[in-house]
Amino acid sequence: MISILQNEKDVNKYNNNPCRKRLKLKDSCPICNRKMHSHGGYFRYVWAGKGPYFKIIIYRHYCPECGLTISHLPAFLLPYHVIAVPVINEIVRQYKSNGISIRSIAKLFDIARSTVQHCVRKHMDSTVDGLQCST
Ligand SMILES: [Zn+2]
Repeated sequence: MISILQNEKDVNKYNNNPCRKRLKLKDSCPICNRKMHSHGGYFRYVWAGKGPYFKIIIYRHYCPECGLTISHLPAFLLPYHVIAVPVINEIVRQYKSNGISIRSIAKLFDIARSTVQHCVRKHMDSTVDGLQCST
């Protein structure tokens, strides 16, 4: 299960201080409401626009009662996406509002055309006002 850290909208801020205490991770089980245990974490890569990829840690909690594991994903990330939400929003906005071609957007962001196509196809409808992170 994934829990979204709504206050974590900035990649740099998250990456500079990704400590558990500051993130205030919710540690009660959403199923049985008992206190969950820290369950380590894993690393993920994020791309926040031009520049290098960031390697960030994603913390996890485990419920010993029902066996549920929760990953605490910052709000700038979507599950299974390397590109940060603000960048996806910008790609879709360029395509929808400005009518720029997929090829030109790929050049603008210096990414593969297939990546742009994926973003546009998958997030075209959900980004009328942008995905959640951008507000
Ligand atoms: Zn539980």
